[in-house]
Amino acid sequence: MVTMQQNVLLAPYTTFHIGGPADYFVIAASLEDLKEAVSWANKNTMPYFILGTGANILVGDRGYRGVIIKNEAKLYEFAGNLLTTQSGQTIAELIQRSKEQSLSGLEDFAGIISTVGGALWQNLHFLSADRSKTVYIGDIVEGATILYENGRVEEVNKAYFQFGYDTSVLHKTKEIVMSATFRLTFKNPDEIQKTIDANIAWRAEKHPKDAIHCSAGSIFRKIEGYGAGRLIEQVGLRGYQIGGAQISPVHANFIVNTGSATAHDVISLIQLVQKTVKDHMNLELEPEITFIGE
Ligand SMILES: Cc1cc2nc3c(=O)[nH]c(=O)nc-3n(C[C@H](O)[C@H](O)[C@H](O)COP(=O)(O)OP(=O)(O)OC[C@H]3O[C@@H](n4cnc5c(N)ncnc54)[C@H](O)[C@@H]3O)c2cc1C
Repeated sequence: MVTMQQNVLLAPYTTFHIGGPADYFVIAASLEDLKEAVSWANKNTMPYFILGTGANILVGDRGYRGVIIKNEAKLYEFAGNLLTTQSGQTIAELIQRSKEQSLSGLEDFAGIISTVGGALWQNLHFLSADRSKTVYIGDIVEGATILYENGRVEEVNKAYFQFGYDTSVLHKTKEIVMSATFRLTFKNPDEIQKTIDANIAWRAEKHPKDAIHCSAGSIFRKIEGYGAGRLIEQVGLRGYQIGGAQISPVHANFIVNTGSATAHDVISLIQLVQKTVKDHMNLELEPEITFIGE
């Protein structure tokens, strides 16, 4: 039986550390909890939102009118080179556990804050170990179990997700990933560790420090041929600040919360960037983060 809490501040559940209260908030510690929470929301005709680690969202200052379901269903198991995991497990934990099994595939995403559900929602991506191309989590997905809004549960294959750059079919549906299976490959754990170390070092060098400056990662999608960060630098907005929200001086496609930022500050900065880049370069930057609440 899940416990519904009321009026829970969402800021601590996001990497931005921004956002007002949810009317209802529930931690789903198992797949049963997840189903029960969705069914509770439906019965009470309330909107609901599945929250992973909150690394790709901006919650409004007045919070969310409905039920926030924080997914902490974390069980996983290995069978040969297949890893099946519930969707509330973190990618960081699975990288370590896979390495112990000499299984490679997830370490490309080392250092990125994400649950499995959030990773499939947006097709988590990063540069390959040799930095020659972009690798996507969708490439190693074998299949998944999906919960539909009406409570039906179904097995789907990788093609079902229509994975693309920063996208999957989940953007268009209200479906929830309950669990997913990844096809990994056997590799020497020392080699896997080398990739983990290199990716974490790359982030430490190129990104704002999470501990000091909270963010939601890249704010804008890349436009083919131009990096969003480069465009923002070129229009002179690197370091620009509105209220407590700042275009990171370290990486211009990050907006950081310098301590007191509101969602209103972040949105004002996003709009300013969009207008400036449009006026100067006639290019339209599109946010890649999800906005929820009021
Ligand atoms: C410092 C930093 C660096 C980052 N670097 C990268 C990077 O290199 N590459 C990259 O791709 N991303 C990056 N990100 C973005 C972020 O880590 C990813 O988008 C991540 O996948 C978000 O996962 P989450 O669990 O936090 O999802 P949340 O932010 O909690 O949710 C994001 C979306 O996923 C949906 N969702 C969550 N779980 C489920 C589920 N079980 N079923 C259906 N939908 C679900 C939510 O409803 C929401 O719409 C970065 C973020 C930060 C803060």
